[in-house]
Order: sequence, then C-alpha cells, then structure tokens
Amino acid sequence: MISLVNIVKNYDGKQNGGRAVDGLNLEIAKGEFVALLGPSGCGKTTTLMMLAGLLKPTSGEIYFKDKLVNHVEPKDRNIGMVFQSYALYPHLTVRDNIAFPLRERKMAKKDAYERALQTSKILQIDHLLDRKPSQLSGGQQQRVAMARALSKDPEILLLDEPMSNLDARLKLDVRDEIRKIQRKLGVTTIIVTHDQEEALAISDRVAILNGGKIQQYAPPSELFNHPYNLFVASFLGNPPMNLIDGIVEQREDRQWVKTKLFELEIPQPRRLEAQHIGKTVKLGIRPHDLFISEQPGEASIRLEIDLIEHLGSGQLVKMTDRAGQSDMMIRLLTDNEKRLKERETVAIGIRPDKIHLFDMTDEGRNL
Ligand code: ATP
Repeated sequence: MISLVNIVKNYDGKQNGGRAVDGLNLEIAKGEFVALLGPSGCGKTTTLMMLAGLLKPTSGEIYFKDKLVNHVEPKDRNIGMVFQSYALYPHLTVRDNIAFPLRERKMAKKDAYERALQTSKILQIDHLLDRKPSQLSGGQQQRVAMARALSKDPEILLLDEPMSNLDARLKLDVRDEIRKIQRKLGVTTIIVTHDQEEALAISDRVAILNGGKIQQYAPPSELFNHPYNLFVASFLGNPPMNLIDGIVEQREDRQWVKTKLFELEIPQPRRLEAQHIGKTVKLGIRPHDLFISEQPGEASIRLEIDLIEHLGSGQLVKMTDRAGQSDMMIRLLTDNEKRLKERETVAIGIRPDKIHLFDMTDEGRNL
C-alpha cells in the first residue's frame, strides 16, 4: 500500500549535516497498523508530514499502491489525519466538523450530513452531533477528530500523537477504540508516538527510528525478544534492560561471558564466531529474566538490595554489588509474593537462554 524508498529530508540550517530523515526505507501493507516510534527529534513527525504531502522529501520516492506521489497535493492523496491538538473548528457543531472534509469536496449538504451520521455511529458519538467542541470532554473531542478524518473514507489514516492530551485511564480506552475501528474499517494506519507501550499495544509492526534512520522494523514481540541492536534493546522495555560490560572467552569447546560481577556460560547452540573471542561485549538481561534464587548452586550473583519499588503488578528490585569491585546497579522484576527487605543480600539467578550479547564494534549489533 505504501512504500518509502530511500527518503532523505534536509532542513536548512539543521546540525549534523542537516538530515532529519536519513535514507529511510519502509513498506506498509494494505490494512496494516504501523507505529513510528523513537526519541524526540528522531524524524517521526517529518516522515508523517511527507506521507501527508505537507512536506516534500529532499530525495527519494513515496509510492501509494505503486503510484509515485511525491508531487501529489495533500488534498489529492486520499488520506485522513488526526493531530495531537485535534484542531476541531470551535464555531462548528460536531456534525459540521465531521462533514467539513466532505463539504470541501463539494458533496451536497444532505449527503455530507448523512455520511457524518454514519461515521459518528461507528465512533459512538451520534448523540453529540449538535454540540460544539467546547461542550465535549477530551475523549469525545478525540473521537470527533477521528470521525472527521474517517468521514471521507480515506485509504490511509495518519495519526500524530493522537492520545497525548488524554489522561492515563482514558488513553487506554481510546487506544482500544482506535484499534477496533481500524480493524473494522481495514484502513491502512500510521501512528507517530513516543510512547512505547502505546506503540507496542496498538500496532502490527513498529518502526524504531533514531537519528533519522530505521533501527528495526518488526512486530512488537520480535522487537522485544530479538532486538536488532543495542539502541533498540535499551530503548524498549520498562524497566529497561540491564546492560553489563563483559568479555567473551572460549575454553575448549565452551564459550563464556565474563563480567565484573559473574561468569556465565553462553548456552548452546548459540556460538559466537571466532572474531568475537577476547572482545568486549555488552551483556543485556531484561529485569524479568533475573530471579531471586532459593536453591543452592543455582545462583550466579550475590547482591545487596538498595531499593524496592512496588509496581502494582510486581516488585522492581534495585541492587548493587557492595562487596565486589563494581557499583553497577542491577534491576530485577519479581512477583508480589516474595518477601524482601532493603539492605538484605540475596542470591540472583539468570535465565541464560534469555541473554543478549551486543557487539561493541559494529554499532551494537545483537550477536
Ligand atoms: P518529537 O517527538 O520531539 O516531535 P520527531 O521525532 O517527531 O520529534 P521531527 O519533528 O521529525 O522529530 O524532527 C526531526 C529533526 O528535524 C529534529 O532534529 C528537529 O529539530 C529538526 N526539524 C524539525 N522541523 C524542522 C524545521 N522546520 N526546520 C529545521 N529543523 C527542523
């Protein structure tokens, strides 16, 4: 449905060679829900604006269904768009707001109102059609903005941080709502967000951007379980992944990673190539892949608990290695049943099949 081919966008005067988007390639299938996710300034909004036709790429091609659209005007692209600020017209009723894009296309008022009614029913706001935006809650305004974007039956829906003005609870409801409507209508949708939980919950695939480049483009579980590089691994996950410096060693047929805290055998059948032996790596372990061990011989590390945070669904335990040479902080996630005390020393086990090893010479590639 959508192909971005080698897209570059330079803003005049921007630092770092001026590239806000730097050679981006992306394919989006019909009916797919894709999130563009990354830290502030990574090029998400710039990419969305180029899809909308509100910005022109410096170079590269944008195709909608094999048709080059680089020079197609926004109004001729058959897209609906919802912005962070909703931008509803305050002097118009909900009905007229939803009908606005249709009236702009010279649709007769009666037909436009009929379509507005149908769309408002899908979004369950048909009882609000006579109100003005100022008489609506934030969540209702959000739905009106969605209805307006969908009223002209677009092939592509672009969402720019559409939930950032909603409170935490409402966000969850609206998120489900957006996903349901998107499924029902089958409209190809791209959402820009800096909220990773939102992106992972709502999308079929997520493109992680950094510095105007795609770091990984994959379904949520793949990103989480098989991060392509150190950036993706450390960006995704809350609480974040533990990252520990280590050296790869080989003794006879077995490979080990040696850190200041412990030694861990790299489980078979994973084998690193010879060029990595003796090299520094970052060892990545997610907090829920560490556990507090009660069985002798099972544990790899003994650490002192500094802080316990109760997260509702579990406990986040922050620990340091007081006795050893390292003051590195390690995070562990455990259930609520475990009785733990700050200042207590505990034995920690590692699930070795869940570890990640990142190359420190090749842009942090996951080995
Ligand atoms: P955020 O999450 O903060 O909105 P973003 O990922 O959407 O960030 P963009 O808005 O696409 O990022 O910006 C990408 C880069 O381009 C940033 O470094 C930004 O400073 C720069 N930039 C954006 N708009 C302009 C502009 N009009 N002129 C010059 N530089 C710009």
